[in-house]
Amino acid sequence: MEETESVGFNKRRAEGLDKSDGPKKVLPLKDRKLNTANTICYLQGMRLSLNVDITSDGVIMGTGMDTQDTSPSVLLFFDKRRFIFNAGEGLQRFCTEHKIKLSKIDHIFLSRVCSETVGGIPGLLLTLAGMGEEGMSVSMNGLDPLVNVWGPSDFKYFVDAMRSFIPAAMVHTHSFGPSPGSDGISIPNPMMFTDPIVLIDDEVVKISAILLRSNASEASQLNNENCPLLNARELDLEERRNQFSEPLLRRSPNNEFDLAVKPGDISVIYVCELPEILGKFDPKKAVAFGLRPGSKYRELQLGNSVKSDRQNIMVHPSDVVGPSIPGPIVLVVDCQTSSHLQELLSSQSLSNYYGDVSGTPPGISKTVNCIIHLSPASVTDTNDYQKWMTRFTKAQHIMAGLEKKNIEVPILKASARIAARLNYLCPKFFPAPGFWSIPHLNGSAPGALSEAPASKLCESVSAENLLKFHLRPYSQLGLDRSGVPSTISPSEIIDELLSEIPEIEAAAQQITCFWHGDKQAKEDLIPMLNNNLTIEEPWLNLSTLPSCLEDISREDMEIVLLGTGSAQPSKYRNVSSIFINLFSKGSLLLDCGEGTLGQLKRRFGVGGADDAVRGLRCIWISHIHADHHTGLARILALRRDLLKGVSHEPLLVIGPRQLKRFLNAYQILEDLDMQFLDCRHTTEASLEAFDSNNDTSPSESQTSTENGTNAIGHMNQDHKSTLFAREIPMQSHWKRPDSPVNNSMVSSILRNLKKVLTEAGLEALISFPVVHCPQAFGVVLKAADRINAVGKVVPGWKIVYSGDSRPCPELIKASHGATVLIHEASFHATFEDALVDEAIARNHSTTKEAIEVGDAAGAYRIILTHFSQRYPKIPVFDETHMHKTCIAFDLMSVNLADLHILPRVLPYLKILFQNEMIVDESDGIVNVASAAN
Ligand SMILES: [Zn+2]
Ligand SMILES: [Zn+2]
Repeated sequence: MEETESVGFNKRRAEGLDKSDGPKKVLPLKDRKLNTANTICYLQGMRLSLNVDITSDGVIMGTGMDTQDTSPSVLLFFDKRRFIFNAGEGLQRFCTEHKIKLSKIDHIFLSRVCSETVGGIPGLLLTLAGMGEEGMSVSMNGLDPLVNVWGPSDFKYFVDAMRSFIPAAMVHTHSFGPSPGSDGISIPNPMMFTDPIVLIDDEVVKISAILLRSNASEASQLNNENCPLLNARELDLEERRNQFSEPLLRRSPNNEFDLAVKPGDISVIYVCELPEILGKFDPKKAVAFGLRPGSKYRELQLGNSVKSDRQNIMVHPSDVVGPSIPGPIVLVVDCQTSSHLQELLSSQSLSNYYGDVSGTPPGISKTVNCIIHLSPASVTDTNDYQKWMTRFTKAQHIMAGLEKKNIEVPILKASARIAARLNYLCPKFFPAPGFWSIPHLNGSAPGALSEAPASKLCESVSAENLLKFHLRPYSQLGLDRSGVPSTISPSEIIDELLSEIPEIEAAAQQITCFWHGDKQAKEDLIPMLNNNLTIEEPWLNLSTLPSCLEDISREDMEIVLLGTGSAQPSKYRNVSSIFINLFSKGSLLLDCGEGTLGQLKRRFGVGGADDAVRGLRCIWISHIHADHHTGLARILALRRDLLKGVSHEPLLVIGPRQLKRFLNAYQILEDLDMQFLDCRHTTEASLEAFDSNNDTSPSESQTSTENGTNAIGHMNQDHKSTLFAREIPMQSHWKRPDSPVNNSMVSSILRNLKKVLTEAGLEALISFPVVHCPQAFGVVLKAADRINAVGKVVPGWKIVYSGDSRPCPELIKASHGATVLIHEASFHATFEDALVDEAIARNHSTTKEAIEVGDAAGAYRIILTHFSQRYPKIPVFDETHMHKTCIAFDLMSVNLADLHILPRVLPYLKILFQNEMIVDESDGIVNVASAAN
């Protein structure tokens, strides 16, 4: 804001000093007065990318079962209270889609602490605190934004890790139960694991926690597979602990890390008990007892006896009030391993809830109405677990543990609808979503999955998205499937599209022709289109195909835009992530916002996403804002699990130095099987310094000098652009992080990077500093030269990704001659000039500026991404400057072989979105995001 030069930027923000949009105050905990008399309550299960539909009544059971990338979530819903159990990635997005107001969630409880259950928390806290991703202020309409998060004691490790990028004032967290070792508490008293811990006890509900821990000695007998992992984890912990420079972890008095209970090994059973419902007051009976309506009625309802007005008797509450009904009870059970199961079976805390205990005196035994099982099938299918389930004689069992199967009901219907429409228009750039092409693994229709196999000892139903279990009113107690979404097939969506926009059929045919002789298509087929549809293509000059694309194969490289929105996940656009598919040579991820795994599954299917994660060679993170890295832990944890027992190297994660602190802290909780490299070690200057001090790779450094250039390209000293007409005010800023870093400390990691790149067919990965926030980078990927069919050496392609940035000389220099420049374009500024100021204040770029950067650098193609969520479906764009540019959509896949066609598709997108190219002010969350600007 201070700098408004021709290309201004916010210097204070770039240096991390702009705190103007931090949380304004520490808000008090919620304290709402509740009326229990008419409380409606229901349970809703939500799975993976959660599903919850909150209507005006009751408790919903909903599960987000399509991508299975996170733990299911369950919503306990009261008129004025919301409790959510588990908050995996995609929670916010799910809630937006299903109109669940995040601001009304009071408490989040974690059944265990791992990437599956906590992945959605950082984004949620940032949104609720009104900070969006990176200070994109979001006001929650004046409602108290604080949510309390509860987890077992190891949750504090996650909280510590989050503080790397979330201000402490925003984090209202509570951990309970014995400490997992680091506080000097040695072996916890086993009793502490069996006494229920009461967390909430108010007018509407009492919620208590029963802890289960994995018993290490039993684990060795029951679960041999896990043991080497646990040992490895212990060693890692000690090693990591020694690396800490900050007093993040308190050491126990003997300066040792106590591992009596390993972080991540505690599971929690939550018991939710609603208060009993007092019987109904019967006024007729009251009259019969000689009472006049008035204050005595009230006294009786409060449980006090009164004297009759007309008779000489005392009237007792039982005379005029019907019998009370015990409050419903719900259990949420997460029993992850057979070792936890042993604890579960022997837990004394549960004895009052079993219905089969004849010895229990009446009045003490409580009736459980509903049990939601988050435990995996490997546990719930065992005889022991089934027998345990039968002990709750009156409970409805709902099985919500993850199973490996594709489900055809997309949870995020709005984005699925757009994906299907784009796929119809141009299947090459918008392939069919991963689920739709894959037959059901077990050959059964989705409906058939709702009943558990008959062989089970205990009857149960499978959880489904938006399945409800009503707890109140009492007359409705039980399951309610009315909210479970119906299946939606691609063909239905296309039928709808064709009736809405009939000319789309001709447009799709026209696009198909681009792949069959471009010139002919251009000359002959335009008349096919309706008269009211004019497609102008004045810019095409196919002779400019860069040499690196000559005879390029379809198996060379594909760019998959997994998430193309900024700040927070929205209905139509997830947050930043770019999958660089190198086919047989593996893959890379550039940024990894929340929900990246879910997006991979949407693109490649459940099995295909596993393959993609297995094949990762490296993950590169641009900067520490939450919309660029909070999906990282989930991806790394999945890779660790997928490669268990397979010989492999830890995955290389290159990122800003703040990320290292987060990952180190996180790994106390859960091993991520990764190796960190600071972006500063991969700048051109640092890599050159490393090469010159290092004899190990003389041939490589020679190659780059022989070519007279290197992957970055030469700094164009006299940019034609008007962008930098004035003396550059940010020079001192961006110079600093670019100065060479002593790489000797990380030489083995750098050597590993070279090896990884070579295996991936890449010549270089080079980070360069950009103007956004402290330690913000862009990246250059340069492919190795290849030899074509006639033996000619063809130069490798070059991709540049801007990360988040203002236009800056470093970015133009790095993009010089790029085959593809993927540039952030958070704001569209042609029509809304006020947004230029906002782009400057936030250190982002406008669409116009992004295109100017690409033009100045001579990039062959520009892909715009990272759009403000104010443009929910498609940014308003002006084609005249778009001759080499395309707008990214989630799951758009750009194969290098199709790059020459890319800009030609853009005008057709306009047909698809002809009715929707306006800011969607009717959409709840989007509206909130734009209202704040
Ligand atoms: Zn961002
Ligand atoms: Zn950012």
